[in-house]
Amino acid sequence: MPNGKNALITGSTSGIGKGVANSLAEAGCNVVLNGSRPMEQAEETRQELQDDFGIKALYQQADLRDYQAVVEMIEKAVNKLGSIDILVNNAGIQHVSPIEEFPLDKWEGIIDLNLKAGFYTIKNTVPVMKRQNWGRIVNIASAHALVASPHKSAYVSAKHGLAGLTKTVALETAESGITCNAICPGYVRTPLVEGQIEDTAKSRGISKDEVVRDVMLHAQQTKQFTSIEDIGKMAVFLCSDAAKNITGSMLPIDGGWTAH
Ligand code: NAD
Repeated sequence: MPNGKNALITGSTSGIGKGVANSLAEAGCNVVLNGSRPMEQAEETRQELQDDFGIKALYQQADLRDYQAVVEMIEKAVNKLGSIDILVNNAGIQHVSPIEEFPLDKWEGIIDLNLKAGFYTIKNTVPVMKRQNWGRIVNIASAHALVASPHKSAYVSAKHGLAGLTKTVALETAESGITCNAICPGYVRTPLVEGQIEDTAKSRGISKDEVVRDVMLHAQQTKQFTSIEDIGKMAVFLCSDAAKNITGSMLPIDGGWTAH
């Protein structure tokens, strides 16, 4: 168990990021929560984690598309906790549209957050991890880091890019006690997916029930959504001693989707 380690989880005020923060806190890690919203909006979650698990929980507001904000977030976290041992790159957004109608600002926003922000955080935490000769980087990628779906050109491109970043960082840090892996979930029912059900229904001209049945769970052979807890537990495992020789891996939790 990664007991006593300090973990920074990006985009952890809701959905998968909040769940991963919960699992790491349950395993005894201090956690730095992050989101682009003001501190007050994360206070309840932060306080709950401290009270439930007896660890230190901090919140760092930072829009991860802003390089300087990322640098400051990491400096502050290191100053307050002494180190960052675990980095979970989770923050992400989605937009669904045919390629010829895909708005430029949406395309660029997805690449900025889902891919470039991962480079920003890794670039600034690897020196900290190298100094202590221990580190765990967990990138929350997607089944869409391995296969494509129509109308998701920006997301699929960013997540495939994140897979490449994961493998490259794994090679560069392999002899420094650091591992870098990607978890590739299938569909998880979070606010991001609820929005996507609505968008996909509009873009394909079908009902929301049909999106769930014929688009999402059609790909997932187990016919079950991936749960937030499944992802949290996988992140904890990747931070454990048993996973010290797992690096550069893409780990699907997708009900068999990418087995096709
Ligand atoms: P979500 O919308 O619930 O959470 C996204 C988080 O990112 C939020 O905490 C939000 O505050 C944060 N965020 C958004 N813009 C930000 C910014 N500019 N700076 C800092 N933080 C920002 O979504 P989710 O479903 O929990 O997704 C989390 C990650 O998991 C994403 O990378 C997503 O691509 C990935 N993923 C989700 C699914 C799924 O089905 N939900 C499947 C595979 C992968």
